[in-house]
Amino acid sequence: MAASRAKTDDRCRIVIIGGGFGGAYCAQSLASKLRRSNAEVSLIDCNNYFLC
Ligand SMILES: Cc1cc2nc3c(=O)[nH]c(=O)nc-3n(C[C@H](O)[C@H](O)[C@H](O)COP(=O)(O)OP(=O)(O)OC[C@H]3O[C@@H](n4cnc5c(N)ncnc54)[C@H](O)[C@@H]3O)c2cc1C
Repeated sequence: MAASRAKTDDRCRIVIIGGGFGGAYCAQSLASKLRRSNAEVSLIDCNNYFLC
């Protein structure tokens, strides 16, 4: 099921690895710039907390 859903989902996916200063600011900036687009921004960190 998940595979067939992924095939029809044409969203642009952006994955940022690392939620430090660089990753957090990158995610905030992209989320604001791509607000009206069909994009999904994900921020992943090996810790369970972020700077922002
Ligand atoms: C004690 C200290 C004080 C500082 N004070 C200042 C200051 O006053 N002013 C200043 O400008 N700079 C300061 N700095 C420097 C500043 O913190 C760094 O320059 C800045 O954090 C670098 O940003 P970054 O995004 O590259 O890395 P980081 O902020 O280190 O972020 C990297 C992130 O990636 C994550 N990560 C790493 N490996 C993985 C993995 N395999 N999978 C998932 N996530 C991962 C980490 O958990 C971390 O959250 C200080 C640094 C230290 C150590």
